[in-house]
Amino acid sequence: QLSDRLIRVANFVPTGMTVADIGSDHAYLPSYLCLQKHTPFAIAGEVNDGPYQSALSQVVRAGLQSQISVRKGNGLAVISPGEVDVITIAGMGGGLIATILDEGKLKLDGVKRLVLQPNVSADLIRKWLRENNWFLQAEDILEEDGKIYEILVAVPGDDLELYLSEEEKKLLLGPYLLKEMSEPFQKKWKSELENWKRILTQFEQAKESNEKLNQKRLEFEELIKMVEE
Ligand code: SAM
Repeated sequence: QLSDRLIRVANFVPTGMTVADIGSDHAYLPSYLCLQKHTPFAIAGEVNDGPYQSALSQVVRAGLQSQISVRKGNGLAVISPGEVDVITIAGMGGGLIATILDEGKLKLDGVKRLVLQPNVSADLIRKWLRENNWFLQAEDILEEDGKIYEILVAVPGDDLELYLSEEEKKLLLGPYLLKEMSEPFQKKWKSELENWKRILTQFEQAKESNEKLNQKRLEFEELIKMVEE
């Protein structure tokens, strides 16, 4: 049984498209896609040997050897340009996902859709997408086992108009999620606010005051004001 989180990622993969799942671990997502969503061909990419071996075993167990190619390598190095329609990257930090995309830019030619599920720092991905001409087409957010996950879906194209006003706010919070204001969204940012306020109190209690600390304090005050709004 696939986690809710990965089912939600799978829901953004259109039927019939070929997929590369990067950082696939057990290859659960490609297996589910081939079995449930008629994905004709998938690549499961893994940089680490343990998860790579787990992916190989899972694919054999599911009898999907003819449909899923398990490959060992760093990020997008495991795919050739034009080989897949969709790239999924789930369960890592937003910074790492952005780095994988950036280092593999040349492999993105011909890719029709990115489905990205950062565990933290989704704003770094939104920033990368905007700077690299990917249009943020949809977002999703869910809570599972006490954790809140965001999913970002992007297609090639310019998305400047999404960010024309209140750019920073939208990069941080997500333009669609902000409009929807769902329960997990509110919960996520309330908890972030509590954290920042705690940090701010620590700054205020700090005995020494210097330029750097003051700057940080101001940044936190700004952030708190923006998210509270
Ligand atoms: N995608 C699965 C999921 O969402 O459940 C697995 C997530 S797991 C926490 C992250 C996986 O990404 C690990 O198996 C790790 O080995 C792999 N990984 C980390 N950096 C990677 C990279 N640069 N290229 C490929 N795989 C990577």
